[in-house]
Amino acid sequence: MPRPGPAPRRAAERGALLNRLRTETFDLAVIGGGITGASIARDAAMRGLSVALVERGDFASGTSSRSSRLIHGGLRYLRDRHIRLVREGLRERGLLLRLAPHLVRPIPFTLPVYEDGRDSPTLLRLGLTGYDLLAGTLGIGRHRALPRDRLIGAEPALRDRGLQTGFRYFDAITNDARLTLSVALSAVDCGAAAANYVEAVSLEMTNGRLSGVNCRDLAGMQELTVRARVVVGAAGPWTDQLRAMVDAPAALRPTKGIHIVVPRERLHTNSVVAFYWAERPLFAVPAGRHTYVGTTDTDWTGDPSGVEANADEVAYVLEAVNGNFNVELTMSDVGATWAGVRPLITEEGSPSPSDVSRDYEILDGPLGMYTICGGKLTSARAMAEDLLDRVIEKEASRLSRRPARCRTARTPLPGATADFDRYRLEAASALERGWGLTEESAQHLVDTYGTDHVRVLGRAAREPELLEPVAGGSPVLRAEVAYAASEEMAVTLEDFMRRRSDLMLFGPEGALGAAEAAAAVLESTLAWDRPEKARQLSAYGEAVARMMAFRAGRGAAAGSDR
Ligand SMILES: Cc1cc2nc3c(=O)[nH]c(=O)nc-3n(C[C@H](O)[C@H](O)[C@H](O)COP(=O)(O)OP(=O)(O)OC[C@H]3O[C@@H](n4cnc5c(N)ncnc54)[C@H](O)[C@@H]3O)c2cc1C
Repeated sequence: MPRPGPAPRRAAERGALLNRLRTETFDLAVIGGGITGASIARDAAMRGLSVALVERGDFASGTSSRSSRLIHGGLRYLRDRHIRLVREGLRERGLLLRLAPHLVRPIPFTLPVYEDGRDSPTLLRLGLTGYDLLAGTLGIGRHRALPRDRLIGAEPALRDRGLQTGFRYFDAITNDARLTLSVALSAVDCGAAAANYVEAVSLEMTNGRLSGVNCRDLAGMQELTVRARVVVGAAGPWTDQLRAMVDAPAALRPTKGIHIVVPRERLHTNSVVAFYWAERPLFAVPAGRHTYVGTTDTDWTGDPSGVEANADEVAYVLEAVNGNFNVELTMSDVGATWAGVRPLITEEGSPSPSDVSRDYEILDGPLGMYTICGGKLTSARAMAEDLLDRVIEKEASRLSRRPARCRTARTPLPGATADFDRYRLEAASALERGWGLTEESAQHLVDTYGTDHVRVLGRAAREPELLEPVAGGSPVLRAEVAYAASEEMAVTLEDFMRRRSDLMLFGPEGALGAAEAAAAVLESTLAWDRPEKARQLSAYGEAVARMMAFRAGRGAAAGSDR
């Protein structure tokens, strides 16, 4: 059996992190561990600044694990002539494909055109040509027309009545939660003190200037104050709650979106199929043995915490699928759902939710505080660079050192390697030969962790039972559970089931069997006693029940949709 991998990521140890948060004075304290906050912490740490990040749930537990998982320029924003936004998205897509090739993969899209459709083939061809040109040298591949017959051959499940023609183009896909986690862990590797389950409860002012963040460690129930020269709010849909702490005016117009997951054999697509229903664009996305479909876009005025798909929303997506594909899906086909709240910025003139700009904004004030909101998963790196350039320009004299220039556009994320396609084949076959893994587990390990798969297997060299899958037929290994707890800062069972792995979404009915096995590994890795293990299993079961509550006609937080 091969030797264990590199030394564990000691910097991520919770006790040491909390001690740093309590004792150091940081250049920057970032509130929020979604993709935006994690990207800011990573960029700042790589420029040589001292940085703290506090996240009240798990990393990515907000909107950053609830997206459509597409890394894209946003073809549809071209219609509204948001050229800068599209160019930025395409540039970031190109960078991510190079900086995290294990996490961000190119994927073909199919765009069917119907006789009664909203856009003419000529307009779409023009738009797709513009999309290719805007991507420039970072493009993935040029679009091409798919005549009706070839389109039906390529996507036989599509409704063919009224089908005129179609197009094939390319964008990219990711695992949003793992991308966010990877950025957060990279920040930690670069020296940031980034902790999950630490909530900012109030902000401290000294002589009219923000000077610190009063926090509660939700895992240990302790209070602590993080002292900082500059505070950055990256709280996504909770931005207005954070701004209310300093009496700053509200900035957001949040909208809710949901996705449903169905077995691939019930809705089989060979590419991401983009289609319209009631003037709203949706995507059917192939994901291993499943297809997921979304999304909706409705104004949301409630608390963004614990938002779930409700029965009406699931019915709407099913209706859209049944209207566009030769299938008759029902509620019982839906094995999982997810819902998220987009932190969009209030705009003049109340456009419809789908038309609210996906651009971001940086708000300055009160003294010593900067808030960033809006944007996309795709553009988070660029948003972080812009924010830090502004902070450094305005606050240079207060910072502990002269920061270096931004390096995130050329520094790969952990686990990345050049020529990933060749690497994945070689590494996966070495895992099959050297560790006796199944082909599916070997490929899953390399695709999920890139070169870091050797770290995942570190403990399994001493404890071979960790090479067992968490459930029969699942490619996910018990070693991943141990790794999540010891090196990826997983604290709860749901952290593993929902965000370190996506078993909660793509295992059958929340993968409760796998949860039992994962809890047994976490019990020994995190030194849980029996009651704690039972509590974790019950909390996870409740999370799965909330996700599936739409089946009983429930799931909407009362009064939150408008
Ligand atoms: C349905 C849907 C589909 C989408 N699809 C795509 C897509 O395909 N591609 C794309 O590029 N983008 C997509 N997006 C947009 C993208 O997901 C978001 O723009 C992005 O995830 C926002 O990240 P964030 O870090 O700003 O917010 P979040 O991820 O919500 O992070 C904010 C964090 O702040 C934490 N927080 C809040 N208050 C406190 C506090 N007091 N103390 C400590 N922590 C706090 C929260 O717990 C949360 O984790 C989609 C969004 C939705 C809703």
